[in-house]
Amino acid sequence: MAEFIKDLELKKINDIVNKVNKIFQKVDVFCSALLLQAWRRIYFVSNKKEVYTSIEKRKGDCMRCGRCCQASCKCKHLAYDENGLSICKIHDRKPHMCKIYPYNRDDFFYHLKHTCGYKYD
Ligand code: SF4
Ligand code: SF4
Repeated sequence: MAEFIKDLELKKINDIVNKVNKIFQKVDVFCSALLLQAWRRIYFVSNKKEVYTSIEKRKGDCMRCGRCCQASCKCKHLAYDENGLSICKIHDRKPHMCKIYPYNRDDFFYHLKHTCGYKYD
């Protein structure tokens, strides 16, 4: 009986540790996405020429997964069509920083880099 209670307690502790780990992972993703959002704007303002040269080397296509539009907080203009593809409700006048994502090999939200349709050599 004592062993059973001990096992039960260990299981509870493991569950708590797993939950705390998941919370830390979410906070980590959120903070790094916020930092990139700030950094990419600062970098763009002072390196416009380089950014436009770099973006010409961008390969692939947007797969309209919509993940970059909710990398930190979900954008209020993000919607999905009946096929599950993302739609920007303000596509014709969306912010320039949205239009040029990702503008170089470092301009990826790190948790989305491997699933994004755009690539750089
Ligand atoms: S993460 Fe990449 S593929 Fe997905 S919507 Fe954004 S740019 Fe497009
Ligand atoms: S404005 Fe449009 S493209 Fe930009 S984050 Fe929002 S939904 Fe995405």
